[in-house]
Amino acid sequence: MEMYREVNGKKILARDNAYWSDIKKPIDIAKEMVNSDVFREKWLTSLENIEKQFQRVPAGVLSKSLMTDVYLEKIFRYLMRMSHFVIFGKTQLDYIPSSIKQEFKRENENGMLCVYVNVLMSLLIKRLDLNTLIQFIQGFYKIDFPKDSFNRVVHGEMAVGLHAFTILDNTIIDPTLQQIGDNFSIGDSEFMVIGETLPSFISMYGWVESEDVVYRYAEGYAKEVNMSIHEWLLAHDEVANLLFSTAIKSGEFTYGRNEICFCGSGKKYKKCHLI
Ligand SMILES: [Zn+2]
Repeated sequence: MEMYREVNGKKILARDNAYWSDIKKPIDIAKEMVNSDVFREKWLTSLENIEKQFQRVPAGVLSKSLMTDVYLEKIFRYLMRMSHFVIFGKTQLDYIPSSIKQEFKRENENGMLCVYVNVLMSLLIKRLDLNTLIQFIQGFYKIDFPKDSFNRVVHGEMAVGLHAFTILDNTIIDPTLQQIGDNFSIGDSEFMVIGETLPSFISMYGWVESEDVVYRYAEGYAKEVNMSIHEWLLAHDEVANLLFSTAIKSGEFTYGRNEICFCGSGKKYKKCHLI
């Protein structure tokens, strides 16, 4: 999510000027952002959380080794791939229903993709009943561009943006951030960004949102497509199954025929989604 700032009556991206470089306290940035007109409209938060719970989150971003659970991997891959799809629009995902694509596109255009994706992910993971602590976090990222880096020339010393992400136990899992690193090749327009989304340059700050906030978001998303929250989650889980089985069939991901199917049916894969 981007932060806009008014300069001479014109709205510009905050990262496009040097404004942020003289700010010392991240918490002041957070308060100012959350209270700005641009975000008060759509960004739900329990404002008292900012003071109480605001903290810098450890820099470790999701690693593949965390993906020991296939259901979790299925959900993560789905949301990462769809985020990449709407941000860069390069992959053809013809088999994904257009209504689902439309949801992602709408939130990307609203500048709220990170909120949407992480609300969806945290509720889908909760349904799995894994023995993990899921926390939906709202806050912001701060990137300190290294000296002599290309992005420092373009953006100045640092970039700050409102952001939502998820913490699974002690690790940030964030499909909208991760999609950058997972799907690039040299020559792609996003290539220069990737080199600097390393954990040492990026800091995540935030506060844990209440269940209430998560469900209020979800209720709004489900309502947009005339569904209950339950139906909405099932619809996304179904598409996640479709995307995952396509990845297996194309050889992108290996999955044994005799393994229990990733969809949660309890049947063997060869008797379920392989067919
Ligand atoms: Zn299945």
